[in-house]
Amino acid sequence: MTTTNRRWLVNGDPRGRALALSDWIVDEEPLKPLTEGQVRVKTEILAYQPAMKGQMEVIPGYSSGSPVGTVMASPGVGEVVESTAPQIEVGSKVVANVGWQEYGTVTAKQVQVVPDDDLLSARLGILGASGLTAYFGLLKIGQPEAGDTVVVSGAAGAVGSLTGQIAKLSGCRVIGTAGGQQKCDWLVNELGYDAAIDYKNENVKARLKELCFGGVNVFFDNVGGPVLNDVLARIANGARIVICGGISRYEQESLPAGPANYFNVVFRQAKIEGFLLSGYEREYPIAIDRITSWIREGKVTYREDIQQGFDNIPATLLRLFTGENFGKQLLKL
Ligand code: NAP
Repeated sequence: MTTTNRRWLVNGDPRGRALALSDWIVDEEPLKPLTEGQVRVKTEILAYQPAMKGQMEVIPGYSSGSPVGTVMASPGVGEVVESTAPQIEVGSKVVANVGWQEYGTVTAKQVQVVPDDDLLSARLGILGASGLTAYFGLLKIGQPEAGDTVVVSGAAGAVGSLTGQIAKLSGCRVIGTAGGQQKCDWLVNELGYDAAIDYKNENVKARLKELCFGGVNVFFDNVGGPVLNDVLARIANGARIVICGGISRYEQESLPAGPANYFNVVFRQAKIEGFLLSGYEREYPIAIDRITSWIREGKVTYREDIQQGFDNIPATLLRLFTGENFGKQLLKL
């Protein structure tokens, strides 16, 4: 039985700048004996999300913090190797905030025991926060109706890829924006998007004009910045603009200028609404059951981008901000 734990501690506050590898340092600590009601989880898979930068910046009310000097917080899947909680058996697979470390120590209340099946890693993505964000953001705020034109930015990402598929299941015409031809081809050929715009190589404004002839009824925005502005120019009457994320601004030094086309919201009597997934916690079980059925019935699909090894834990987070990840970013220890 191992007696030490290697872990990555936060070493820098990245407010107003891009993340750097020097923002974390590795250390090693002896494992402490468990107290009553705790479980020790051997980390197997870590999950990444852009909000992890925000959690290092300790933005109040956004996500639980990872201030300098603490173990970088992170959801993961692992196996229980020790337990003083009678209801959690050694050998169980669990989802928990294990953090960037080989062994996470958490209370029994903080772990969710999950089946050790073919959907184990999916519980960190399409059946975890990413899928639930797509589900609630689109259905509760976007309120898509059959025949609507729905535009999704960051469409090939963990959230965006399910958002577009749910919009298709709702009978909508769906257009996505993503970086690069390979991601755009995947959206159209495998996820059933009606069209995709490569925002890195195409004129988004011109392509939206060509593709959204009747206007955009729902815009699900993961990105912000110029894409948001271009979509605002093409919204239909009564459009719903769902602000899910704004990754284009997460690494900027200063606050970006507001979207020049925002006044179209008045002319089109549209609505812009932000949301946080945590507001829907009571409804998670119903959503997870529905998404699981869609996967089992072949109605939705997903992609995972799995990196390997303890040493690559910090570098893997940086991939989200360059668009190197293709699908839900995970890492196997
Ligand atoms: P993801 O899309 O899997 O990964 C991030 C993607 O963002 C990259 O692959 C890249 O794709 C794109 N990107 C990076 N920099 C960009 C830039 N400057 N401009 C445009 N696109 C850029 O990440 P995710 O986990 O699904 O998260 C998507 C968004 O949802 C994030 O903004 C996140 O903060 C938000 N979110 C919100 C909630 C909530 O409760 N509101 C919950 C979860 C996530 P390309 O290759 O296409 O550029």
